[in-house]
Amino acid sequence: MSNRRTAAHIKFLVIHCAATPNGKPFTAADIDSWHKQRGFTRNMSLFPHHAPTLKHIGYHFVNRVNGVAECGRYELETGAHCIGYNTNGIGICMVGTDAFSPEQWATLKTQVEIFKKRYPGITVIGHRDTSPDTNRNGRVDPQEWLKTCPGFDVAAWLAGGMAPLVGHILPGSH
Ligand SMILES: [Zn+2]
Repeated sequence: MSNRRTAAHIKFLVIHCAATPNGKPFTAADIDSWHKQRGFTRNMSLFPHHAPTLKHIGYHFVNRVNGVAECGRYELETGAHCIGYNTNGIGICMVGTDAFSPEQWATLKTQVEIFKKRYPGITVIGHRDTSPDTNRNGRVDPQEWLKTCPGFDVAAWLAGGMAPLVGHILPGSH
């Protein structure tokens, strides 16, 4: 389901990965076709001129290996990317699984900076951080992850000043 929302709804920035082979240059159009197969549908009557060829994609942005950020859903359009966070979250997808190009890392940093200004108080998390804290110790431990997406520790990346995260940089890139 895809509904209009206001800026006041937006509380979370949820980072995902595409779970595609690292470094393979998939695009938002590819992801749109996969989300079509999963039965996702945008309500194109809301923002008909925003990414008009992508009628299914659940994310708001797709960060390609070359660093280009492609638009998916409009920011004020409910997403389809993370159960429990679709009405109040913006979903950004990094193409790859757990290693990303310096250009992708730089794009993600810019987006976080923009959205922190645009939506004061927004919380930046990784998809796996939304898994339930089943042992109630106050944090989501690796054994509690329902999935590994986005393939890196978002909190550690933020703590490091959003520099490309060691161990998660595409080999061969600089
Ligand atoms: Zn995800």
